[in-house]
Amino acid sequence: MAGVSGCAPEPVKAPPVTQAPDPGPTLTPTPSPTPPPEPSFDKAAHSLDDPMSIWVVSNKLRPLNPIEFEPNDLVMPEGVGNQNGQPLREPAARAVEAMLAAAAEAGVPAGIISAYRGYELQQSLYTSYIARDGQAAADSYSARPGHSEHQTGLVVDLDDGSGCALSECFGATGAGVWLAEHAAEFGFIVRYPPGKEGVTGFIPEPWHFRYVGPELAIEMRDTGVVTLEEFFGLPPAPDYAQ
Ligand SMILES: [Zn+2]
Repeated sequence: MAGVSGCAPEPVKAPPVTQAPDPGPTLTPTPSPTPPPEPSFDKAAHSLDDPMSIWVVSNKLRPLNPIEFEPNDLVMPEGVGNQNGQPLREPAARAVEAMLAAAAEAGVPAGIISAYRGYELQQSLYTSYIARDGQAAADSYSARPGHSEHQTGLVVDLDDGSGCALSECFGATGAGVWLAEHAAEFGFIVRYPPGKEGVTGFIPEPWHFRYVGPELAIEMRDTGVVTLEEFFGLPPAPDYAQ
């Protein structure tokens, strides 16, 4: 009689098939399908308050802090016309060089009229505008010192020499049309678009381009939210607090 090996394996039993119990009728309502995830744009990637942030929001209710802020990375843009010889913050300078080179390549050359303007220069400009046009009119087109985007070093006023300098008709020039269409690719937005005076506090300025970086500029273009105030859910700033 053959011995039974002590280590013979036991016959393997298949595990019992467990069947999910029938849940039966449920009393809880079926949850609605999960909405698709939001696009992954991070609205907190940069500060809206720090004057050195490329997303700083400066308007009639949001003075720069400190009010006499001066950027520490001002450089002169190279290879572009610059009527008043004003500098820009380094990232904005590099971006405007690329944008104006592309515009020239496209047959619509343009140059800079104005770029960084410090607190004291803005003060003298604003005072002269009040003397000329009165305070209400001056406030509609010129920021008070400490409230000007030009003081951030992230802004250029552009022109193509066709007679529409700092005028609404610039938006209809070849350069104005090209820049409005392509600015986002270089990180710029038209900061004071038409129909948004009640939000930005300023009449349309198709010549005034604000550098915010391509990520934000393209997101704003793609979502069609054209002001920084609306994009970031900030209060409209039609007027100064006092
Ligand atoms: Zn401007």
